[in-house]
Amino acid sequence: MKKIFIVQILAVILTAMVVAGCGAVPLTGRRQVLLVSDQEVYEAGLTQYNDYMKGAKLSSNVKASSMVKSVGKKLADATEAYLKANGLESELDNLKWEFSLVADDQVNAFCLPGGKIVVYEGLLSVAQNEAELAVVLGHEIAHAVAKHSNERMSQQIMTQYGMAILSKALSQKSAAVQTVATSVFGLGAQVGFMLPYSRKHEYEADYMGIVFMEIAGYDSESAVGFWTKMSAGGGNASDFLSTHPSDNKRISEINRRIPEAKSIAWNY
Ligand SMILES: [Zn+2]
Repeated sequence: MKKIFIVQILAVILTAMVVAGCGAVPLTGRRQVLLVSDQEVYEAGLTQYNDYMKGAKLSSNVKASSMVKSVGKKLADATEAYLKANGLESELDNLKWEFSLVADDQVNAFCLPGGKIVVYEGLLSVAQNEAELAVVLGHEIAHAVAKHSNERMSQQIMTQYGMAILSKALSQKSAAVQTVATSVFGLGAQVGFMLPYSRKHEYEADYMGIVFMEIAGYDSESAVGFWTKMSAGGGNASDFLSTHPSDNKRISEINRRIPEAKSIAWNY
């Protein structure tokens, strides 16, 4: 019985890949099922982002706000340079970067599709210099470049609607996209209730993040120090860790891949 169920699930995934398309993550080459167009994901994320920003208060700390923007821009430029150098210019159409610092004591940060990245002031109590801030921003940029939102929405669509949705009219599919966007990002009314990323996405974003850091000229060793502080932080750090699950294995995995990140940055 169980076996039949697994076969059915595999059939759904395979059909989904054929009907809707699949992609490969830059840098890691991992294949992923993407049921929603980049444009639809971007628009759904933008609605959530605008709703959130309407209620948010921008930081009054001018120096810190401009640091978030300048470190973000450096990393975004490095990321775009990497994508261009690897024949992935078409991906740039879906990346419209925005880096904001909001007045909120939570130790947190998030990224919405297309590169709308928000850092909470509280995070700067852990990320205490540009390189440590680059660890967080590089990681969030990686979530955007790897289209983790699209993948999570696609998984939700498959879970909630099954195969039927793939053959339905596009208008019904768009309604489904709006519904899953709300449950995946959930920023509107209940701020901070985004679905947590999976470990697989976290490790992938860590790896891609340290490569982008190195290309931008930051030392990726900072990632080890930052995550060690984060995991020792307890209390407030749990805000960020609730959407970005972490454990000791994560830090050793980052450590293991630093030489690789440096070598890619050197040779890309
Ligand atoms: Zn993450």
